Amino acid sequence: RRGNIEQRHQETAANVVPPNLKLYIGGEWTTSSSGETFETRDPTTGDSLATIQAGNHEDIDRAVEAAWTAYDETWSDYSAADRQRVLEEIADRVEQQNEEFALLETLDNGKPISESRVDMELVADHFRYFAGAVRVNGGETIPSGGDSQHVQTIAEPYGVVGQIIPWNFPLLMAAWKLGPALAAGNCSVLKPAEETPLTILKLMGEVDDVLPDGVVNVVTGFGPEAGEPLATHPDIRKLAFTGSTEIGKQVMAQAAENVHDVTLELGGKSPLIIYPDADLDKAVSTTITAIFYNTGECCSAGSRLFIHSDIKDEFLDALASTAEDLVIDDPLLEETTLGPKVTEEQAQNTLEYIQEARDAGADFITGGDVPDDEALEEGSFVSPTLIDNIDHDNRAVQEEIFGPVQEVFEWTDYEKMIELANDVDYGLAAGILTNDLTKAYQTAKDIEAGTVWVNQYNSFPAGQPFGGYKESGIGREIGYEALADHYTQTKTINVALE
Ligand code: NAD
Repeated sequence: RRGNIEQRHQETAANVVPPNLKLYIGGEWTTSSSGETFETRDPTTGDSLATIQAGNHEDIDRAVEAAWTAYDETWSDYSAADRQRVLEEIADRVEQQNEEFALLETLDNGKPISESRVDMELVADHFRYFAGAVRVNGGETIPSGGDSQHVQTIAEPYGVVGQIIPWNFPLLMAAWKLGPALAAGNCSVLKPAEETPLTILKLMGEVDDVLPDGVVNVVTGFGPEAGEPLATHPDIRKLAFTGSTEIGKQVMAQAAENVHDVTLELGGKSPLIIYPDADLDKAVSTTITAIFYNTGECCSAGSRLFIHSDIKDEFLDALASTAEDLVIDDPLLEETTLGPKVTEEQAQNTLEYIQEARDAGADFITGGDVPDDEALEEGSFVSPTLIDNIDHDNRAVQEEIFGPVQEVFEWTDYEKMIELANDVDYGLAAGILTNDLTKAYQTAKDIEAGTVWVNQYNSFPAGQPFGGYKESGIGREIGYEALADHYTQTKTINVALE
């Protein structure tokens, strides 16, 4: 099997890894100023997939300059209708090559191919949503000027924005950033995560003839060398960052030096609350999606489960056996439902949290280790893990693990449960499973979270605002307000009529 996996991955890589993997600046493929490169690896086999340019501050300078040139010379002349056509064409190109993009994402990130295909559908739909939204984005007239003046606002783009993204949904995170930024009329310098640069570089190759040169510039590289010079660049007018809360705080402090607007999409430690009246089968499948989708590498992962004591034993038996039935295998296989973590380092991080829980005397309902499968030894796999009897103050509960690990808490008293559910620094998402809509709404209001799913989890249709309370971030993406509030600035024009 191991030989088959390697062969399958080599053949797929030969077909889908694009030839041009340099920095994309001003519509040109260029090497990094330092001449340095790094390898992006396949987390299933550990093999190198491609050599990537390690951009630095000089490359960021070049990219910001190219973006301003594009803004001044072409993009600011594009009407809303022109930008709509461009965004629709980008959506078309992703749709036409859904399978190639999906295979490439699975090779670079390790997510099951079935999930990569869903990502690509969402990417295309996201560009399409903002293609439509661009036509209704405008200002308002304000009647307070009376008859003597006419007060109105117009929504203007910032010009050039900086965008930094993580590795868990590589192309989807890029789409969440580029869709509203381009719709609003901005140019972008985007830095992808060093772990997963391939799909965004492929996209640039596919839309090179659609986007005027310099409207989107992609500088690959590491956080300190390429991310920080972008976050601190005086000539960007806005910074959008998705990643860890730790780096988000740094980036926000840096942006403050230049009084740059920021949006931050950061970590989470989201509660999934199950009432005793919930449909058992649906509760099990929703819990599996909440914590094991994308190998648990979801900022929104429902990583703390609050299960009502009346159904705890029955529910956990069913959950554990369903978790044990997940197909942990080569993510290129159709039947695989749990792939490797994105890198060996990330797998080790997850295993350290697991060890911390074990040292604290927690019980493992299932998992807690790496899969016992020789064929997967070169990959960064972690078994689906459910932990019971762990203190809510434990670091493994309070911090984001970002892996296939869920901690279980039993509840009977509603107030105490809500207090615990809110007792983390994060507030990104939550899930509620019940057939009682009144209870669902009440709980949705009591939870400190930017998104609450009822009787489902991890659903992200374009147009649905997404972002965090508390330390999970500032601002909202995916929805219309990303375009209207976060990628435009308001200009007020007040005309004297007398
Ligand atoms: P990370 O913070 O380590 O890195 C994110 C990006 O920031 C990468 O491109 C990285 O190169 C860059 N970076 C690192 N150091 C930097 C610096 N000093 N200055 C500027 N840029 C820097 O996060 P990660 O490990 O890539 O991603 C996982 C995190 O992302 C998780 O915490 C997850 O919850 C979060 N996330 C949040 C959302 C959301 O919408 N809220 C979505 C996806 C992921």
